[in-house]
Amino acid sequence: MRLLILGGTASARSLADAAVAGGHEVTSSLAGRTIDPRRPGGAVRTGGFGGESGLRAFLLDTRPDAVIDATHPFAATMSAHAAAACQAAGIPLLRLDRPSWRDHPLAATWRWVDTHEEAASWADRLGGRVLLTVGRQSLPRYAGLAAEQVVARIAQDDGSCPRRFVLLVDRGPFTLAGELELFERHGIEVLVSKDSGGSETAAKLEAAHRLGVAVVMVARPAPPSPAPPRVVTLPQALGWLAALPA
Ligand code: NAP
Repeated sequence: MRLLILGGTASARSLADAAVAGGHEVTSSLAGRTIDPRRPGGAVRTGGFGGESGLRAFLLDTRPDAVIDATHPFAATMSAHAAAACQAAGIPLLRLDRPSWRDHPLAATWRWVDTHEEAASWADRLGGRVLLTVGRQSLPRYAGLAAEQVVARIAQDDGSCPRRFVLLVDRGPFTLAGELELFERHGIEVLVSKDSGGSETAAKLEAAHRLGVAVVMVARPAPPSPAPPRVVTLPQALGWLAALPA
């Protein structure tokens, strides 16, 4: 099978490696935002397609047998373009997602909001020192936070973090012991997160619970309509591929 993977996540990389090992001809597509990204197995193309019409033209030109959208749960524009372009080009599309934290045992104890602006407003209302784990692209939306101390953890520094924030550049997976230490070292009272889901960055949620830290959680954007079939594990994605007509 000739497979196009829309990537930029660890699961997309694992999928590409597994699909290559399974004998598929794989091209991974990266947005090109990460400096020196870890490269998946198979071919890699980098940069935007030029909107939904650009992706449609790319698909008609390269004619992959299937597309798997393994982008981050918050990469909603890319997912919407993939759904529309695959439908128009008649190419099967699968969504490989991460399990949402909606089903986390502590989910009912968090304040769920739909936007970063609402999250910032709740952080202000709750008061106290804030830890932001919302991704570097969203940090400017928290620039007006009232808290005197704001700690922001991001995977890569691109210089866009508001200057007064204490910046921590670190990449998961994170351990519970490490998260407890970080919360205590900075005296964190409010954690703002987005529902990235999965297990690699989930330890902060347990740490917050144990230390009585309030959690504000930004909900995922809605899936595209019509939504493609969705799976949440690598074996399920490989199973979907195997079931496609040759
Ligand atoms: P987005 O808002 O959904 O996409 C914005 C534009 O970036 C898209 O319209 C597309 O440009 C281009 N793009 C995004 N993903 C692409 C891909 N895999 N290959 C080629 N072009 C892509 O996405 P985002 O939230 O900025 O995320 C960008 C990338 O970072 C994604 O690949 C995502 O998986 C990864 N990532 C995102 C987050 C997050 O929190 N958002 C976290 C970790 C990793 P054109 O319209 O020109 O095609």
